[in-house]
Amino acid sequence: MKKDSKWKATIGLEIHAELNTKTKMFCACKNDPDEKRPNINICPICLAHPGTLPVINKEAVKSILKIGLAIGGKLADFSEFDRKNYFYPDIPKGYQISQYKYPLVSGGELLGFKITRVHLEEDTARSSHDVGDFSLVDFNRSGVPLMELVTEPVFHSATEVSKFGIELQHLLQYLGVAKANMEKGEMRLEANVSVSEDEKLGTKVEVKNLNSFRSAERAVNYEIERQIELLEKGEKVIQETRGWDDKKQATFSQRSKEDSQDYRYFPDPDLPKLKLSEIHDLNESALRKELKETPKEKRERLKKDYDLKDSDIDFYISNVNLGDIFESAASFITSKKSFQTLSNFVVSDIASLGEEGFSIDGKRLASLISMFIENKVSSRGAKDIILKMTKSKKEPLAIAEESGLLQKSDEGELTKVAEKIISDNEAVVSEYKNGKISALQFLVGQGMKATSGSANPQVLRAIFEKLLN
Ligand SMILES: [Zn+2]
Repeated sequence: MKKDSKWKATIGLEIHAELNTKTKMFCACKNDPDEKRPNINICPICLAHPGTLPVINKEAVKSILKIGLAIGGKLADFSEFDRKNYFYPDIPKGYQISQYKYPLVSGGELLGFKITRVHLEEDTARSSHDVGDFSLVDFNRSGVPLMELVTEPVFHSATEVSKFGIELQHLLQYLGVAKANMEKGEMRLEANVSVSEDEKLGTKVEVKNLNSFRSAERAVNYEIERQIELLEKGEKVIQETRGWDDKKQATFSQRSKEDSQDYRYFPDPDLPKLKLSEIHDLNESALRKELKETPKEKRERLKKDYDLKDSDIDFYISNVNLGDIFESAASFITSKKSFQTLSNFVVSDIASLGEEGFSIDGKRLASLISMFIENKVSSRGAKDIILKMTKSKKEPLAIAEESGLLQKSDEGELTKVAEKIISDNEAVVSEYKNGKISALQFLVGQGMKATSGSANPQVLRAIFEKLLN
């Protein structure tokens, strides 16, 4: 949307995430998203055979309540499951068990964006339509516990949408309740997009099939532009569901949108109503004890304890392994001033090694950083030592000695080197003496070359200055 546009876009999100419980939502079948063979983890309950009875998975309820606590939402005291009636081959019962009137969690916020509710439901089976003149249905996913989180219409740009999505993905992973891998469909985004000239909301269009944050951004931007174009031509936006075609980079009409009354929701008579505060270990204080650190808390802690750059902190929120290496090394470092130096090495040099870098332990890394700060190794040398540390268990000092990476600060030895360079480079020396300061850098460079990079450049520079002035 152009900056001076009179149009204002408003977006609300519905986000689904498969919970990583051991078993499915209402039966004892294994919940295994990595199972490649179709129809392995199935039973009469998740195949909807007549006469079977669902049983609520307590872990799944617990996971949703933990999410609720982490976003500062209100946990329900009373909750129940409803039947959402519709027909599709991937929903063998003819209805999906979901929550309508009494969600487990109401309200809350993430990054300041208001959340309406978080509820629990079951996933559908997976159908494949691109196999021939027929379709296939795999029921492994049928009945997998699914979180649905609905936000208020509080986003005004595609960037806000992806920022929120990424933060939620991290939150679910930090809490340990979902893997939320979007490529595998473990987390799925739907955006309700509307455009209007004033504060009133325009006609909502639901955009589905957003299976990466990048496609979510593109789809929302596309939809905003499409609606503005229609409105500027004096046409109406139709309330409908549109899919996102990643190949065409465009949304396309799927069907006109159902209202909630079309689903004829009613409480599932097969399941007990939940009085949550009365269920052992599902009350708030018990849940709080089990709650892990959230990305928000981690951000605040990294700022307070290490005073790192914000970009480094964001990096550690997304790259948990490298954050752990940083914190482990930091625990061996006493000088607060050294934390940022340590972090610079982690964010650039160790990160560039990929998974190999994960093998570097905090203690050895901390002693390398001390060597660097004490000028015993150059930054180039430290980089080389880091690489060698991934391949050996040796201490950084031993590696530096073996590889000749210890910086020479011995004035006597370096003076001899400098004297030779001065006599070999008379022209440059006279340039320097005539006021060309940059000539000194050339001489220092020659000195570094002559010592195969092992000289301490600061010490060498001082020696040249002393000899030439
Ligand atoms: Zn089952």
